[in-house]
Amino acid sequence: MYAVRRWSVRRARLFERWYDIVEPALIACHPLWRMLGYARLERPFAFAERWVKGFLFDCQMCGDCVLSSTGMACPMNCPKQLRNGPCGGVRDDGNCEVLPGMRCVWVEAAEGAARMRDGLQKIRVVQAPVDSRLRGRSAWLRVAREHGKQRAQSPVTATTES
Ligand code: SF4
Repeated sequence: MYAVRRWSVRRARLFERWYDIVEPALIACHPLWRMLGYARLERPFAFAERWVKGFLFDCQMCGDCVLSSTGMACPMNCPKQLRNGPCGGVRDDGNCEVLPGMRCVWVEAAEGAARMRDGLQKIRVVQAPVDSRLRGRSAWLRVAREHGKQRAQSPVTATTES
C-alpha cells in the first residue's frame, strides 16, 4: 500500500535497527534451518515475507532484497525497476515520469537513506542486476543460508549484510 510504504521510508532508521537484530538471529539459526530443510521452509518463509514486506514496503518478491541499501524504499516499485538510482525523468515535484501521482522511488530512497546510520554509504554501492531466478523466493532464507554457510566455514571472518 502506497501510504504505508512511504510511512516505512520515513521510519527507515527504525527498520534499520530492526534488521540489525533480526538478520543476525536468522543467520544464527542456520543450523536449525538446515536441520528442518531449507527446501521445506521455502514456502512458509516466502509466504510470511510476502505478507510482512508486501504490507510495509510494497515488496514485489524479487528474492534479492536491497532495502537496506535503498533507504527502505523498494526499487522494484519503480516502473522501470531501476536498482541504481533514478532515470532522467524525475519530475520537478519529485514524482515519477511514468506514474505522475507517485513519488519517484529514488527520491524516496535518498530521503530514507539520509535517515539511516549507514544509508548514505550503502546507497552509493552499485547493485548487480536482479537475478530473475530468485523471483518469488524468500530473501530472508537466502541470506540465512548464504551467510550461515560462510560463518560455518569461517567463523572469525564472516560478515553480514542485507
Ligand atoms: S528489493 Fe526485492 S525483496 Fe526487497 S522489498 Fe523490493 S521486491 Fe521485495
